[in-house]
Amino acid sequence: MNILFAMVFFHLYSSFLFYTMKKDKILDDTYFMKQALEEAQKALQTGEIPIGAVITCNNTIVARSFNQVETLHDPTAHAEILAITAATHHLGGKFLDRCTLYVTVEPCPMCAGALFWARIGCVVFGARDEKRGYLRYHPEIMHPRTKIKRGILENEAINLLDSFFKTKRKHDNNQPE
Ligand SMILES: [Zn+2]
Repeated sequence: MNILFAMVFFHLYSSFLFYTMKKDKILDDTYFMKQALEEAQKALQTGEIPIGAVITCNNTIVARSFNQVETLHDPTAHAEILAITAATHHLGGKFLDRCTLYVTVEPCPMCAGALFWARIGCVVFGARDEKRGYLRYHPEIMHPRTKIKRGILENEAINLLDSFFKTKRKHDNNQPE
């Protein structure tokens, strides 16, 4: 009887531990940015500039996407735009004010504009994009109520971009004149 009790107790205790571990993971910005980096890795594998995004609502991922400009022959197919479309479709409304977007690289002005219209609650990005990022143009493109966090897993995002451009240069140099 005691053994049975111990077994039940152990099972309940391990379930509790698993639940709290899972909960801690889900509440962490780093955890969600890792998910966005996984998406960026998919972009890299298909020859796209490696940028990935996820959108969360109540600590649950409701959309995942990666840059698909080349694949879809669409200059607007940035990770953020695809994620907004997927999230609003999933949630059944045009506003994402209770959602957070995790994106590996600073959004461009087009994406910042789309995030404005979606009234996104929070944007978390990894690496800065000095050339094409919205901050260079106008920080107020984002909605005034949108919270911004930056620099989460920045180096991992930069490493992915570096490996893409290195491979591209190698490829371009090997092309016949
Ligand atoms: Zn963009």
